Amino acid sequence: MLARAVEWLFRAGTVVALTGAGVSAESGVPTFRGAEGLWRSFRPEELATPGAFARDPKLVWEWYDWRRSLIARSSPNAGHYALVDMERRFSDFTLLTQNVDGLHDRAGSRRIVRLHGDIWTLRCTGCGREEHNEQVPLDELPPRCLCGALFRPGVVWFGEPLPHKALAAAFAAAERADVFLVLGTSSVVYPAAALPRVALERGARVVEINLEPTELSSLAHLSLRGKTGELLPELLRQAA
Ligand code: NAD
Ligand code: ZN
Repeated sequence: MLARAVEWLFRAGTVVALTGAGVSAESGVPTFRGAEGLWRSFRPEELATPGAFARDPKLVWEWYDWRRSLIARSSPNAGHYALVDMERRFSDFTLLTQNVDGLHDRAGSRRIVRLHGDIWTLRCTGCGREEHNEQVPLDELPPRCLCGALFRPGVVWFGEPLPHKALAAAFAAAERADVFLVLGTSSVVYPAAALPRVALERGARVVEINLEPTELSSLAHLSLRGKTGELLPELLRQAA
């Protein structure tokens, strides 16, 4: 099975990878869809929304503060490092991520298209100013901007549009991909989930790696069951 993916990678000019929360699971960062993703019995869908923030910004920030400290204690895993290798190996490689944890940056990937923002960015709800902030825990919840208004996490919440530039770059990459890798994502959150489908229509070979079957599995040319931290390095070893 892996051999087919290896062959496609050998011949590929343009390689695109789309990552989801599963790629960070082996680093100990909980995914959204899974029992370990629960926090004080709230579902992420109830906390990662503009409505939840409007109702109770302190509660939403407590959840983000908890996630930030968890991520700060974790390290990139073999899957993240394999993607750094790919960036070096393929002349036209694009990494698209739905993750907000910054682990791709910490592993050493350079060109990253962040579709859902970044948990280490604070954005002012008043003046719009953005600030990079890695402090854990934060001094004051909810944190405030110098202008007096509340900061919000610089991430995309359910029901919000994706950053226009990132989305345009992602679709452009999907359209020109020869091989499109779909890694550790449940492929249900749109518009990111549309990207592999666009790549398929444009003739790319689509390879999925996931622990479980997803909505994309039956559409992909190849759907590999396993951990990205194990299968990605193996794929690269064989393609060397
Ligand atoms: P998801 O939680 O919906 O799905 C995770 C997928 O990863 C599942 O299909 C699961 O089977 C798979 N998986 C788990 N461990 C794996 C492993 N070791 N190897 C391969 N696959 C594995 O996550 P999603 O599809 O990314 O969508 C959820 C949204 O939540 C995203 O938009 C993202 O912004 C956000 N999110 C981000 C993080 C993060 O930054 N680490 C964490 C949770 C959620
Ligand atoms: Zn401000």
